[in-house]
Amino acid sequence: MNKDRKLIIAGNWKMNKTVAEALDLVHGLKRELAGVKEVDLVVCPPFTALSEVSKVILDSTLRLGAQNMSDQPGGAYTGEISAMMLKEFSVRYVILGHSERRQYQRESDELVCRKALAAHAAALKPIVCIGETLAEREAGSTEQVLDAQLKGSLAGLSKDQMQESILAYEPVWAIGTGRNATAEQAQAAHAFIRRTLAAMFDETVARRTRIQYGGSVKPANARELMSQPDVDGALVGGASLELRSLTDIVKNSI
Ligand code: PEP
Repeated sequence: MNKDRKLIIAGNWKMNKTVAEALDLVHGLKRELAGVKEVDLVVCPPFTALSEVSKVILDSTLRLGAQNMSDQPGGAYTGEISAMMLKEFSVRYVILGHSERRQYQRESDELVCRKALAAHAAALKPIVCIGETLAEREAGSTEQVLDAQLKGSLAGLSKDQMQESILAYEPVWAIGTGRNATAEQAQAAHAFIRRTLAAMFDETVARRTRIQYGGSVKPANARELMSQPDVDGALVGGASLELRSLTDIVKNSI
């Protein structure tokens, strides 16, 4: 596939996997995908497995991501994890503003933005998630929703910070439902996001920023989705929990 932007595929394991199960999966990924250079492959285990997983992937091309972090550097924030704590485990990426956190933890665009700035301050690359609900799509307001999320979640990022960030377009109705966006729907949303980045930053930033698609990505639909001109990778939930499906997604995407 001939794209300027390198594909990036990240597995979001959510609240799944004990340390032993996480190690089992990364050992398998190392074995199966050792030679793959065309894709940046990121695994995002739960916090409890970061330390052990980081040791296993040290000598591989796999990269480590976290599923969330605090916007604060430290202090009296019970249950929170700071960017510097993630850095201790060689974490390079952090998922921010996942729709599950926006829904269950009521995370706002403003909070996501503060987290993105805190991530950059610690040299972590944020994977900032945006996406419309089914009701919003059916009401014809997808672009309006994406525009507001982009402006709210990325306000104040410098051009350099923006192009070092990853965006994940994840229509909420496609997450964990088995119903992925069609390639045409994904491409249309990604093209809109890129146009919005050009208006917010500039054409160069828009051209360089990688935009992942997320929502029921599986081996059978990866190739078509990834071959869209503005789709630069995938954020994968359910199908990233199993060695065969994640390796097939990666192989089918190249
Ligand atoms: C996700 O949670 O980011 C996701 C895309 O999940 P799934 O692949 O299971 O739809």
